[in-house]
Amino acid sequence: MIEERSAGAVLFNETKSGKIFLLLNYPSGHWDFVKGNIENGETLQQTVIREIREETGITDVEFIDGFEDKIEYHYQRDGDLVHKEVVFFLAKTKTIDVKISHEHLGFVWLSFDDAIKKLTYKNAKSAMNKIKKLGFDT
Ligand code: ATP
Repeated sequence: MIEERSAGAVLFNETKSGKIFLLLNYPSGHWDFVKGNIENGETLQQTVIREIREETGITDVEFIDGFEDKIEYHYQRDGDLVHKEVVFFLAKTKTIDVKISHEHLGFVWLSFDDAIKKLTYKNAKSAMNKIKKLGFDT
């Protein structure tokens, strides 16, 4: 089995009418947070900063202390089973303008409730529910 490790962020922007959360549309069709594979020698947060920059063009990222959520899943790649672990952080940006990379089909900023609905996978939705418990949903 192939082991893959990624890191990502539940990235939000604080607007006058409340927080909005960034979701990306992945080439395989699902909607998820920004994330990507950890490269040699990187800390998890360095991965997140690099992936946010590469995938969205956003360069101002402030991590919120006290939130870290690890999810795992399996998928098939070219006939091999991949076991993937993704650690998500909670992070804030002042940027709204997104320059989506060729790696994704699109992006959307959504309120907490709409983001939970839009996320494809249960484990990603559950990361949002943990954020709600910390009071970061409005
Ligand atoms: P990245 O490089 O951003 O980590 P990727 O595009 O290489 O991501 P994934 O988003 O991990 O890959 O998607 C790989 C496969 O796993 C796809 O078939 C996708 O549908 C599936 N997948 C993605 N996220 C989940 C999840 N949270 N739970 C179950 N399956 C998932």
